[in-house]
Amino acid sequence: MKPLLTDYSKEEIETLPIIKDLPHFRVDQIYKWLISGASFPEMTNIPKSLRADLAAQYSDIGAEIIKAARSKDGTEKYLFKLRDESLIEGVLMSYKYGRTLCVSTQVGCRMGCAFCASGRNGLERNLSAGEMLSELLCVNRRLGEERVNNVVLMGSGEPLDNYDNVTKFIHIMSESSLVGQRSVSLSTCGLTDGIRQLADDGFSVTLCLSLHSPFDDRRLKIMPTGKKYKVKDIINAAKYYFQKSGRRVIVEYAMMRGYNTRQEDATELRRLTSGFPCHINLIPLNDTDSGLPGVTPAESEAFLKKLTELGASATIRRSLGEDIEGACGQLKRRYLQSNGTEEHK
Ligand code: SAH
Repeated sequence: MKPLLTDYSKEEIETLPIIKDLPHFRVDQIYKWLISGASFPEMTNIPKSLRADLAAQYSDIGAEIIKAARSKDGTEKYLFKLRDESLIEGVLMSYKYGRTLCVSTQVGCRMGCAFCASGRNGLERNLSAGEMLSELLCVNRRLGEERVNNVVLMGSGEPLDNYDNVTKFIHIMSESSLVGQRSVSLSTCGLTDGIRQLADDGFSVTLCLSLHSPFDDRRLKIMPTGKKYKVKDIINAAKYYFQKSGRRVIVEYAMMRGYNTRQEDATELRRLTSGFPCHINLIPLNDTDSGLPGVTPAESEAFLKKLTELGASATIRRSLGEDIEGACGQLKRRYLQSNGTEEHK
């Protein structure tokens, strides 16, 4: 397969043999086209011969939307096909303050969380930086005049299990002014070495920790990574990230009735997250046939109340796109079950 041009940063593109002797303005033109998601034939102010040479050596587009579903609340879900036919999902959520795209970082995932559909078949492969960028570019193109304002790395995959490509993607998004670091959230199931690396490498993205239980034994039962990464160490890594980046940390907490919503869960969660700027994002568990119990709206409110009474900063994440199977991995599953015969809406 030809190298993907969007896998390179602007600096790297400038040094490619086919580009390095071109005048500056020409390089800028090509780069502008690239980050707009254009294909080589669409780069109309670039000489045809140069476009042909580029196309002979490189690929222009790393992902295409093959299926889209739109919810009544405006949320859109996309199924992307990569160049090797792999499938990944993305979700676009519209809020008052802008549009947020949920980006996948791997095909599948090897973390094996019990409640998550993305990891059911393990890890297929890492996404490259250019493939992640292509997810964003496809959606920006689809939006026309509008743009994605925020990116959350919460699609399939564990971003810190694909550190180099994910951080390169963050770098490319910010150098090209597509999405700045402060508008990027990176969610991890708690790979402490990756969190510390992110801090040491000077990143200022919002760090989101998928905690889901403040107790190691309960957490381990639903998150196999708990074997290696203990709650205390994860929280210490988050504190380190805050010290280096100055950024408030988000704790994600998928509520499962009776399993992690007891008074003692609230008390321990509050204790762990005190002493540094930390916000708790409560998520009603999405049903993925995991057999784990979800919560009713009243139960969500009750757990929120327990936390706020203890002085914690916490909110319940609004659930968007319920009518289009917004939960992780479901669009891909349905598409595969129908053998790809469903139409692109
Ligand atoms: N691997 C990363 C990012 C991808 S998952 C991580 O673990 O953080 C993004 C978020 O969705 C995580 O907080 C994850 O725990 C959560 N999640 C996965 N399946 C879910 C489900 N069925 N219901 C609610 N949240 C879920």
